This record gives sequence, C-alpha cells and structure tokens, in this order.
Amino acid sequence: MALIEELRSAVGTAHVLTEGDLSAWELDWRRRWRGRALAVVRPASTAEVAAVVRACAAHRVPLVPQGGNTGLVGGGVPDDSGEQVLLSLTRMNRVRELDRANATMTVEAGCVLQAAQEAAAAAGLLLPLSLAAEGSCTIGGNLATNAGGTQVLRYGTARALCLGLEVVTAAGEVWNGLSGLRKDNTGYDLRDLFVGSEGTLGVITAATLQLQPQPAARTTALAACASLEACVALLARARASLGPALTGFEVMNAFSLALVTKHFPQLPRPLPAAPWTVLLEQSDAEGAEHAQQRFEALLEAALEAGEIDDAAVAASIEQSKALWHLRESIPLAQSEEGLNIKHDIALPVSSIPSFVASTDAALEAAFAGVRLVDFGHLGDGNLHYNVQCPEGGDAAAFLHEHEEAVNAIVYDAVIAHGGSISAEHGIGALKRDELAQRKDAVALGLMRAIKQALDPQGIMNPGRVL
Ligand code: FAD
Repeated sequence: MALIEELRSAVGTAHVLTEGDLSAWELDWRRRWRGRALAVVRPASTAEVAAVVRACAAHRVPLVPQGGNTGLVGGGVPDDSGEQVLLSLTRMNRVRELDRANATMTVEAGCVLQAAQEAAAAAGLLLPLSLAAEGSCTIGGNLATNAGGTQVLRYGTARALCLGLEVVTAAGEVWNGLSGLRKDNTGYDLRDLFVGSEGTLGVITAATLQLQPQPAARTTALAACASLEACVALLARARASLGPALTGFEVMNAFSLALVTKHFPQLPRPLPAAPWTVLLEQSDAEGAEHAQQRFEALLEAALEAGEIDDAAVAASIEQSKALWHLRESIPLAQSEEGLNIKHDIALPVSSIPSFVASTDAALEAAFAGVRLVDFGHLGDGNLHYNVQCPEGGDAAAFLHEHEEAVNAIVYDAVIAHGGSISAEHGIGALKRDELAQRKDAVALGLMRAIKQALDPQGIMNPGRVL
C-alpha cells in the first residue's frame, strides 16, 4: 500500500508496525475499547511527525495520537475499522531544555510525566502535576486531556502549567509556539485551543511548562469523617488555616477503600474504616517542624469541632507515600473488581453532599444492591462517582445493560446541581454522545467551527469529542 511505504520512508521501516501483537496500542487501559490499527507509527522527531501527518492527509487516512495509553475515555486507541493510523509519541521523550532562571522546562510530548518531574527535581524545582498514572502517562497526553490530578487545588490543571506548545497541524505544518512567556497577548490563544483538544485538532509534539520552587516540607495525614458534610467543613477549615500551603484534599468513601483492602491486602490501613476518609497534604515553604505543628493544630481543632473522628499524621516520607499509595490504588482496585460505570464529574463543593445523598438514593432505588466507588479531588469539586454492579453480579453484563440508565440518573443530577459531566478525563469516545446532548448548543456550534477550520478533512482523531 502506497501510504505504508510513505510512512516507512518517513520514520524508518522498524517504526511502522502492521502485524504481530499490537494490543499495547490497540487496547485501552480499562480494557474497554479494543481497536485495530492500519499501522502503528512511532516517529522520533517533530519533522517525522509532520511527514507522517502530511502522508495521512494526502491519503485522507485518519490519525489517532497516543502517549502512554492511560486515558480513561477511549480517546487514544483506534476504532475497529482497521483504517486508522495509530501515531505513538513515546519515542519523542527528551527534555529539550530546563531554564532555571525562568523556572521553565521544555519537554517532548512523549516524555513520561514522572521523568519530567524527576528532571525538574534534579534542578531543584517542582513540576506540580501529579496523578496515579504518572509512571506511564506522557506530557502530550496530559496536555491533550488537560489532566488534573492531586495538586490542582494549589497549582491548577495541566493547562495552568503550560506556557507554550509545539504542534503539528492537521495539514502537517509545524507551529512553534514554545514560548516561556508568562504574558503574551498577541491575538487568539492557540495554545489553549490545543490543550484539552484530545488529539482532535493537531498533534502536540513538545511543551514549555512552568515550574515552582520545591516546598521545604510536606506533611500528609488521613482523617476519618462521619459524613461528606463533615469533609466539606474540614476543607473550609484547612483552607482558612493553611491558605496556599494546602496542596491536597482527597476523599474516599468506605467502599473504595474496602476494594483496596480486598485486592491489595498488604497495604497498611492506619485508620479503622469510616464512612469517609480524607487525605490532606500541606506543602510548606517553611521548615518541617513548623509545618507539623500547624498541621496538628488544624486536626485538633477539627476533632474538637466534630468534623473528624480520628486522624493519623505521617511521621516520615515513607509513611506519607504509603498514605498516597492507598489513595492511588483505588483505580487499580476497581479494575481488579471488574468493569464499572465511571463518572468523572465536577460540582460546586457546596453541592457535593446533597448530590451524593440524592444520587446514591436514586441509584439504589433503581438498582438494588448497587455499590458506589466514590472518591476524588474534593478540594477541586471533582468526584469519581463510579457505579459497580451488586456483589456477586456480572460486571460486564451490568455495564452493558444499565450504563445508559445509570448515566441518565447521574448526569441529570450533575446538571441539576450546576456541574460538569467531565472534570479531568475528557470526552473521548465515552462521553461524545452525552456531550452532544448536554453542552450548550452555541458552544457546540463554535467547537464544530473550530474543528472545521483546523482539521477540514476530519482526519485528526475522528469520532472523539465531537
Ligand atoms: P493517552 O491515553 O495516550 O491519550 C489520551 C488522549 O490524548 C487521547 O485522546 C489521545 O489521542 C490524546 N493525545 C495523547 N498524546 C497526544 C499528543 N501528543 N498530541 C495530541 N493528542 C494526544 N487523569 C487526571 O486528569 N487526573 C487523575 O488523577 C488521573 N488519574 C489516573 C489514574 C490512573 C491509574 C489512570 C490509568 C489514569 C488516570 N487519569 C487521570 C487519566 C488521564 O487522562 C491520563 O492518565 C493522562 O493524562 C493521559 O496521558 P497519556 O499519555 O496516557 O494519554
């Protein structure tokens, strides 16, 4: 086939894969979407990406960009037509530049997030983007999905960390927008168009990210709460007493931690089971002793006010890592338990208790015995509100039969509470039809006009988002 030959001459025969086991690229992390690629193409430079896109554009063959393949909405794997080229960016993994004085780093799209964090740390700086998939996900994927994670409360989402981008357009041109500027009002913000576009407008090949000072001390604690109202009250107290030093505030319901204990019994649980458990983190510019005292005073006051029933403060970095490990094991524990119906939703923090109470009740009334894996970034108003089949049920069959009805209950409630159907995972294939029904019609029209202007042939990740 002429296109395959052109791809081979663009990136080298060894980096155009058309046979053998391609499941690492064709099967998504949740094992929910399995596609079939025309070819898996692995360019090593921006020029090679541009050559691949030009060849695909000439043949009108669609492209699916992919980084670490950890996305959760089916946006980074090909469909099952066998007609889409899977463009894997993982060979483009260099840190191109680290500018200490400007507190920025320029990295290629396929650089694994953890490698970028380590490069920043080696220069004494902090790349404040952190998520459980950081050992596999890539900077390009993080920006394409506008990833959130556990430090958004203080530092914002991936978008807030991005100062500049290099992008290969759908026509195969290279836009070099790799500026390390914090101010640049020269017309429309192209960078912010590509951030969060999930591969539907162009291919991100590199980014300039802003870095922060490393905190002098980090303190982590778990707190047991009797209700979500108590968690929200604790958040307000922590914000008031710690200010910007509060860098993490995660909640986990009893069932999500029970799943972790079931599938990873070796992980220590420093507190007995409670209806809700909060993981708080403080990152302080001052020394460890000061940080510890301030943290303990906060927890004592919360105990006295009845907002928490118990707390455990990590006494070492290892203990702190163990607390985070508990939280970060929830996605894996869910996947061990079987498929569930995922909802990554955003709500005003003040509405979260009433949303959860009324939606839990509506789901229980419709599907007796249904189990709810509720956890997430309460400090950002972001819940992962996942619905698991009743104990002993067939998870795949439950998803197949009831996903639509479950989604209707959950998303109607999200909208009624002034929320969003996607907080940080994106739309992908999973929520495309839901977006079409629920997004403001004028906004959808503008999005379609942008897609048409930037990708008139519709070759960039078709069928995703729009
Ligand atoms: P992929 O999965 O490869 O791709 C994701 C999307 O981006 C696809 O649409 C793809 O086409 C597009 N894309 C990828 N690279 C490029 C590129 N270079 N140019 C253009 N488009 C591109 N997300 C959060 O926000 N917060 C969390 O806390 C969080 N926790 C997670 C925990 C686990 C265990 C897992 C598995 C996932 C989690 N995620 C979380 C999901 C999250 O979206 C991804 O982990 C990450 O941002 C995706 O990066 P990736 O490189 O794996 O992208």
